Amino acid sequence: MSNTPIGLTLSKNWLLFILSIFCAMAIFIATNLFEPTRVSHKQVQNITHLVDSKRIFSITDIIGQPNDSWQPLNHDLTTLEMSDNQHWFRFTLEDLSAAQIWLLEIDYPLLDEVKLWFVQHNEVLSAYTVGDTLAFSQRTIEHENFVFPIPNNEQAVVVYISTYTKGAMRLPLNIWQQKDYLESISKNNLVMGGFFGLMLAMGLSNLFFFITTRSPIFLTYTGYVICIALTLSAIQGLGYRYIWPTSPWLQQHAVGIFANLTLWLSIIFCDGLLHVKAFDSKLSRLLKSVAATFILGLIVSLFVPLPVFLTAFLAILCIAELIVLAVVIWLWIKGLRIAGYYTLASAVLFSSGFALSLDALDIVNFSLPSYYLLMLGAGFEAVLLSLILAISHNEQRQALINTQSELLNQERQAQHAQKDLLLLQENTTEELEYKVQERTLELEIALRELSETNRELQEKNTMDALTGIRNRSYFDKKYQAEVRRSRREHTQLSVVMMDIDHFKKVNDQYGHLVGDQCIKSVAQILQKALKRPSDDVCRYGGEEFSLILPSTDLEGAQVLVENLRAEIETTSIQADGLSVNITISAGIGTAIAELNQPEDAILALADKQLYEAKNSGRNNVKGSQLSVVEQ
Ligand code: GH3
Ligand code: MG
Ligand code: MG
Repeated sequence: MSNTPIGLTLSKNWLLFILSIFCAMAIFIATNLFEPTRVSHKQVQNITHLVDSKRIFSITDIIGQPNDSWQPLNHDLTTLEMSDNQHWFRFTLEDLSAAQIWLLEIDYPLLDEVKLWFVQHNEVLSAYTVGDTLAFSQRTIEHENFVFPIPNNEQAVVVYISTYTKGAMRLPLNIWQQKDYLESISKNNLVMGGFFGLMLAMGLSNLFFFITTRSPIFLTYTGYVICIALTLSAIQGLGYRYIWPTSPWLQQHAVGIFANLTLWLSIIFCDGLLHVKAFDSKLSRLLKSVAATFILGLIVSLFVPLPVFLTAFLAILCIAELIVLAVVIWLWIKGLRIAGYYTLASAVLFSSGFALSLDALDIVNFSLPSYYLLMLGAGFEAVLLSLILAISHNEQRQALINTQSELLNQERQAQHAQKDLLLLQENTTEELEYKVQERTLELEIALRELSETNRELQEKNTMDALTGIRNRSYFDKKYQAEVRRSRREHTQLSVVMMDIDHFKKVNDQYGHLVGDQCIKSVAQILQKALKRPSDDVCRYGGEEFSLILPSTDLEGAQVLVENLRAEIETTSIQADGLSVNITISAGIGTAIAELNQPEDAILALADKQLYEAKNSGRNNVKGSQLSVVEQ
């Protein structure tokens, strides 16, 4: 992810923009709105004080108390110490113009019980009992603070106030003209409306973010903002006035409940927002345990008296906030930018708390009512935190988008690579197929050529070079095949053996070349004479020939061979300018071949018959049917 994404630059500008608006608003509020409100009321002076530790005095007892039992109050009534004593206060109202309506205000709504008497000449003119342990509807004037109408009398009126509270004992007393008071509360209402409206808007908008994004950090923030608003509303009595007017119990515990919830949520929010776990899981666990102490605090606050609880709460709050701040600053140093903003937000709230303390301790006097300081701090912090949340969410979203686009890119690259691979595979396959086809074709051609050559070779092997007719090797195969056919088909097979008579003499007389010519001529005569395609003539060896005559009986063979013999006898062979006459002798063997016969039986018979023909004076034909006896 880039270090300065556009979203962040915008966010920085927005941060500055919103900060400036808030500063302007704060200055405006401080200068215009509150200045008149502080001058339009008078603070009660010359208050005397009496502590009733046993809580036994009635108003009659008190009125009858000698003057010296009352102590002048030499410190500010806004900063009384925590205690559960019954406190009595007495002061005199004089010089109030009878033409005006006057009001007495106690500017602290958390008092448990307040009783007030307006007395003149030791006689009670009017009496009031108020306090946040009583239902809100019991108040004479419905306001979050306690307000009492001062009896309209030109003479001095003595006011007696008896208070008892379990919380911080404060009694800021103001005297107002009614019209000024109305003006003041309308301005106050405007500020309150603005503040609580802002908090509600921040809470609601982040609730919607939670609903749409399902990211729990937004819900935590919403809870935090709502709780901080409820805490402040409880402190100012507005909660009791508007939200839980019928529940004094809740009013008693509201500050404890909501303050604890606020702190619990703020620490959980800090932990989640800054992803502390990702940096250091131990620190994250520490933050979670610190947060958990506030849940414990909430439960304790329901049972323990408020002064005890508040003391403990403030102590724990200080420690907890210091721990949180230390963690946040550590993260900031580690380079987490939003931790810096978070520190700023915390600093704003701390500063307002600090200013509040300075104001409370009278070190510095602000013109603003003290709780406005807290509201300002809380408002600033809420807005800043929301802004930080938006920045953080935007950064995460940006990171997610970047990761997604990177993944998408990788996927695209992978797809491309896959496509290329597929293409390559297809090409290779095609090429391979083509090559295989080519090779197959070449192989087929080679095979065909080979078989052709083979056939030619075989042909050559079976041919006799001198005469051009089949040779002895062909005869052997043909003879075997025809014997089997005869056996299978039960047909007569005739085999003829032929030999030229006194050939030695021809050779001797005319020479071998003439002898060869004679052999050739005889072969031609024999070949020409055979008409059936199944008949074959072969040169058996030297001047010997053999005929294979399938499906030919002895009689038929004898006729054929006799004709041949006669033709050769009458043929004058021309060779080397000479005319040569030769004769042949032939023997015929005929049989239907049988299984129990030796294969060469017919050939042997033909040979025997040739031998007989030779012995019978040559130039003749002998034939015989193979008899059963001879087998
Ligand atoms: P017969 O009547 O008993 O057959 O007498 P013959 O002389 O023919 O005797 P034989 O069959 O024993 O002799 C064959 C002679 O044929 C031997 C050889 O000189 C001759 N001869 C064999 N082959 C060839 C050949 O290819 N060319 C020539 N010119 N003569 C051959
Ligand atoms: Mg011979
Ligand atoms: Mg011979």
